[in-house]
Amino acid sequence: MSWWSEFADRIEPDAPIGLSTWFQLGGSARYLFHPRDIDDLASLLARAGQEDVPFKVLGAGANVLVSDDGFDGVVVRLDSDTFRTTSRRGDSWEVGAGADLPLFAHQCCDQGFSGLECLAGIPGSIGGAVRMNAGGRSGELGDVVREIDTLRSDGFAETLTHDQIGFGYRHTELGDRIVLSARLALERDDPDRLKGRFDELLQEKRRAQPLGDKSAGCVFKNPEGHAAGALIDRAGLKGKRCGRAQVSERHANFIVAQEGATASDVLGLIDLIRERVRRAFGIELEEEIDIWRPVNTPKVHV
Ligand SMILES: Cc1cc2nc3c(=O)[nH]c(=O)nc-3n(C[C@H](O)[C@H](O)[C@H](O)COP(=O)(O)OP(=O)(O)OC[C@H]3O[C@@H](n4cnc5c(N)ncnc54)[C@H](O)[C@@H]3O)c2cc1C
Repeated sequence: MSWWSEFADRIEPDAPIGLSTWFQLGGSARYLFHPRDIDDLASLLARAGQEDVPFKVLGAGANVLVSDDGFDGVVVRLDSDTFRTTSRRGDSWEVGAGADLPLFAHQCCDQGFSGLECLAGIPGSIGGAVRMNAGGRSGELGDVVREIDTLRSDGFAETLTHDQIGFGYRHTELGDRIVLSARLALERDDPDRLKGRFDELLQEKRRAQPLGDKSAGCVFKNPEGHAAGALIDRAGLKGKRCGRAQVSERHANFIVAQEGATASDVLGLIDLIRERVRRAFGIELEEEIDIWRPVNTPKVHV
């Protein structure tokens, strides 16, 4: 009997998770787990821990690049109804980590609750967006998160307050905790005004970013005092290709995957960009996207 046989009807072995990311490339997970509820997830984490099987959690896959070798462990996906519910008490909302961020943000605007309209055009799940503190110039999800429920890697449940989460620029201090749900404090406002703002930001994004292409959004964080996209552009890299991966012509901080691209193409382009920007400006770019490399794989420098 295998260590995971008690979870067998919720586990897919050799699941092609790379294809369900926004890049739609990369390898498979040894196991893909769809927990029924929190207890089920806690039991799996405990069993995997006893067996030294590593785990990762995948939200909507809008900020992840899975290497061509995939992930040799358990990937958790919070896609059962238990993890996708939303409820409201007064101005406080409770949202499951598996809920769809754009859908929820739109729903809040429709119902006259302000705070998420600044996230228009950002794909993802609530869990992934909390983890990444998703946002932009107009605001970040962390601005409205009051507290979150999490599971630690040992299966222990923990509620964290806003300050304990350690929100920063595309950063939190969550380590390998899994976000289960978030409580948000939203303010009442006029639905028409909110929807107008939402649509305005969405149009702005559509003009500036290749939203219809396969990508994971901005590849690099903006270094202090600079825009990563402008540095990449000034280094002459707009349109640069590595295999079937290309620096977007529309926004130089996006890498877009064309038909037939591999994760290695994207990784090669990331290394090339980092090297050229370092050489041109002496600035070290830090990745914003989460790259799921096989353990002990050295980075290739061009
Ligand atoms: C076209 C496009 C435009 C984008 N524009 C923006 C933008 O303007 N601003 C911005 O901030 N981002 C942007 N992004 C990136 C992305 O949308 C955000 O980072 C989003 O929050 C990712 O959510 P996700 O559910 O897809 O997370 P995933 O990509 O699935 O995961 C991202 C990280 O969060 C972790 N994670 C996922 N779920 C959980 C959970 N429940 N608990 C703990 N950890 C978890 C993953 O392990 C991974 O480390 C863009 C992406 C695309 C493709």
